[in-house]
Amino acid sequence: MGGSPIDSNKIAYLQQVKQMNMATILRQIWKKEQVSRVELVSSADLTSGTITNLTGELIGHKVIREYEAVSGSVGRKRVMLGFDPGHYRIIGLDIGRNNFEIVLMDLCGRVLRSVGGDVDREAGPEGFFARIMPALTDMRQEAEKAGHPVLGIGVGVPGPIDYSRGALLNPPNFPGWSGFPLQAELEKRTGGRVMIEDNARTSALAERWYGIGRNVDDLVFITMGGGIGGGVISQGEIVRGTNGLCGQVGHMTIVMDGKVCDCGNRGCWEPIGSIPGILGRWGGGGTMDDFKAAVRAGDSHALKCMEDTLAFLETALINVFNLYDPEVVVLGGQLYPYIAEYRATVQERLQARLYAFAKDRLRLEPSSFGASQSAIGGAAMLFRELLSEPVKLLV
Ligand SMILES: [Zn+2]
Repeated sequence: MGGSPIDSNKIAYLQQVKQMNMATILRQIWKKEQVSRVELVSSADLTSGTITNLTGELIGHKVIREYEAVSGSVGRKRVMLGFDPGHYRIIGLDIGRNNFEIVLMDLCGRVLRSVGGDVDREAGPEGFFARIMPALTDMRQEAEKAGHPVLGIGVGVPGPIDYSRGALLNPPNFPGWSGFPLQAELEKRTGGRVMIEDNARTSALAERWYGIGRNVDDLVFITMGGGIGGGVISQGEIVRGTNGLCGQVGHMTIVMDGKVCDCGNRGCWEPIGSIPGILGRWGGGGTMDDFKAAVRAGDSHALKCMEDTLAFLETALINVFNLYDPEVVVLGGQLYPYIAEYRATVQERLQARLYAFAKDRLRLEPSSFGASQSAIGGAAMLFRELLSEPVKLLV
């Protein structure tokens, strides 16, 4: 009978095998969006019996469902498998210094609802929660009342993060949040599972799981706005480094004898290349819209300032391409719309500076999800976990 150590070891082992096989099946479905059982047998390298059993179980859990596809010239109908958008939900939350965004997503990666707005940076965590909790609670309860279990809440937040405690470290220009135990606090307030990540990395994860990265295993996401951050995806997974600093592209040295930065280094890209950095160099005393209008009007000082901005960007990007060797660098954040028109020019200039054999493969792309990028990436963390450890999340 059960209970002996050998039996429990065997059960644990079988559970592990099942987890791995389910994960393999779900990854194949994610990559191809829809796939037949026959294709799964060859691509997942599992027996047809295993495929039938496990896909049956996943259909029972409403993680995947059958779709009818018409294929070939004779119009033969085939049964395909794809994610089921009708049951589970995931919530993504982006905490910005001046704003927030919450998205409710289905397993097909579609945003079903989104709520966003401004927050008062000076109000600290208490003010922030007072502002967002009604919307967050509403979204969660509404989904659950309608019979949609919420797998969890994935949160993007200004880094750096103490991952062992699920807390913020000391994000610059973010009063009151230093050392704040965000993960535990949100778990307490919502009663659900919460994952937190640096918002440049959630932005990269959105691209990996729902955007350009579905077919790209090595990418770097650069977010430019009030600061400059980066998220590195290598061999399909986010890379954090020893201190969580991997991909801190905003703190690469661009000016050798430049000013001392908040991070302690001197001559960093962020203080000259971010929105405050650009406006500071311009000195016109206005917003990015004002600056752009001056550039359009042909104001020589504004034009020089824009040229310098692009030169800093180009210098930073050639370093990123040479250091990380990504298939794609994706540009996003609040600054991007103001420099979008120069993307092709920057890409050409970069190609002229990269190793000749690699230059034709260099890709510089705009982000897929605009202002919702980081919130969608928050949800992507839970989606990734479902695809890695389905048994853990579903039982
Ligand atoms: Zn710095």
